[in-house]
Amino acid sequence: MEYKSPEVKKAAQQLKVKFKKLEDKRAILRAPELGALYDRIKTLPAGERAAFGKEVNRLKSELEQLVRQAQSFKLKALSSIDVTAPFDINVPPEQRPQLLTAENGSRHPLMTELGKILNIFAGMGFTAVESRELDDDYHMFGSLNFPKDHPARDEYDTFVTDEGLIAPAHTSIMQNRVFKTMQPPIRAVIPGRCFRNEDVDARHDHTFYQLEGVYVDKGIHAGHLIATLKTFFKKYFQKDIKVKTQPFYFPFTEPSLEFAPSCVFCDQKGCSICSHTGWIELLGCGLIHPNVLREGGIDPTKYTGFAWGVGIERLVMIKYGIEDVRHFHSGNLKFLRQFA
Ligand SMILES: [Zn+2]
Repeated sequence: MEYKSPEVKKAAQQLKVKFKKLEDKRAILRAPELGALYDRIKTLPAGERAAFGKEVNRLKSELEQLVRQAQSFKLKALSSIDVTAPFDINVPPEQRPQLLTAENGSRHPLMTELGKILNIFAGMGFTAVESRELDDDYHMFGSLNFPKDHPARDEYDTFVTDEGLIAPAHTSIMQNRVFKTMQPPIRAVIPGRCFRNEDVDARHDHTFYQLEGVYVDKGIHAGHLIATLKTFFKKYFQKDIKVKTQPFYFPFTEPSLEFAPSCVFCDQKGCSICSHTGWIELLGCGLIHPNVLREGGIDPTKYTGFAWGVGIERLVMIKYGIEDVRHFHSGNLKFLRQFA
């Protein structure tokens, strides 16, 4: 609020500074500076009194308004909310629910294993980038060389919001972002939660974790891809393994491969984990399609790269011989405590 009279203006500034420091905000209305202004009215020539008096009253109203605001703020502040507390913090301690101590909890096995996986890739020079849980059509399909209305989109049936946002069906949604923000040589692993419209059974869940990997540099070929994944699997399963690849189809890689390590459970003698074939078809991979590199701002005539996506639950299931993927999200303490 502006005041024409220099005297009122000066007093207004002083009073506002004082107001901030006051414990009892109403005391401002009894401040000597305000009283002095009222006293001053009487000393002025008759022609000036009305205008000056009006300004002093305006200042008083402004201060009253400040006092009212401060009081309503104080009322709101009384009932605090702590969104991180598992109970209403305004409830007295004796009425709060009994909580388990921190020793009763442990890390979820998926997160423990993800930590180990990321450590192995960090040792191989890969940076970890976090994926996201809601995305758009461009990152889910368009940037990954899926033509509009192409039947390959049907393989990624997931959940969509009313606004057209997509719960990502794979971590490849991050490829375009990684290419646009990092300069070759690019070595990145991207863990993330994925979603599919699946009929849930021992092998399929509607929500799962995936680990994407991308490597882009000059002269990268399929030999680099196979050697990188083989090195990872040896370290993760702590076993010497053989690998097998066979042709596959993904719109975002060319050529696309299905990658299968030898069964770490039966050493290829045949067991239920490998369906008695000796091989575990574990992940999809391939050399990144030139269209995908170009869309990410990377010149495919200068650079090539490879990418893969692997289900984290599946890796952990194979490592520990877990027969049902539903255990991970069941909250079953008997299952979870085996990993504590
Ligand atoms: Zn086997």
